[in-house]
Amino acid sequence: MLNIVIFGAPGSGKGTQSEKLIEKYGLAHISTGDVLRGEIKAGSALGKLAEGYISKGQLVPDEVIIDMLAEVLDSKKDSKGVIFDGFPRTIPQGEALDAMLQERGQAVSAVVSLEVDEAELVDRLLKRGQLSGRSDDNEETIKSRLDVYKNQTSPLKEHYNKQGKLHGIPGMGKIDEIFARITEAIDNVK
Ligand code: ADP
Repeated sequence: MLNIVIFGAPGSGKGTQSEKLIEKYGLAHISTGDVLRGEIKAGSALGKLAEGYISKGQLVPDEVIIDMLAEVLDSKKDSKGVIFDGFPRTIPQGEALDAMLQERGQAVSAVVSLEVDEAELVDRLLKRGQLSGRSDDNEETIKSRLDVYKNQTSPLKEHYNKQGKLHGIPGMGKIDEIFARITEAIDNVK
């Protein structure tokens, strides 16, 4: 199984590149942000809980996300592999993912880290907010999401670097150029 973690700050292009990776490698896609937005839309208890955190640009608590992920992961068990988009976002989530995959006789194959300058991130997120109307793509929430990324999420890079799985990819430039860099890294580990 090819299990890819796509990693990067909000606005770094994880969703865009995930779609292309799914098409090329026939992977299943797990986006925790999409799952949470679906729960909010459905008005579930989980959605109501998540909404408060998301609107403030904070992370939904680890235990909630980890339980949710385990359930989604089991629903994808017949796939060729999974692309994890927006998960893990903290060291405990990373450790939980390693354990969950190990229990299933699998592992993370590669971690693709999209590197984009902060000014460009803010610009992209504000533009996305205008187009999609995503409630967390506004100036104040963007700032807290970028802080959360720096403080809670980016330490995961060292976690995967120690495992020899981290692939830093420049995430600026044309979408297809960035995709070519990513596939080159993945084809080397396949
Ligand atoms: P982006 O990467 O652009 O911020 P996402 O759709 O991945 O967008 O996530 C949107 C929001 O959903 C996050 O700011 C956070 O509040 C919540 N969220 C998504 N994934 C996780 C996760 N793994 N752990 C905690 N919260 C999460």
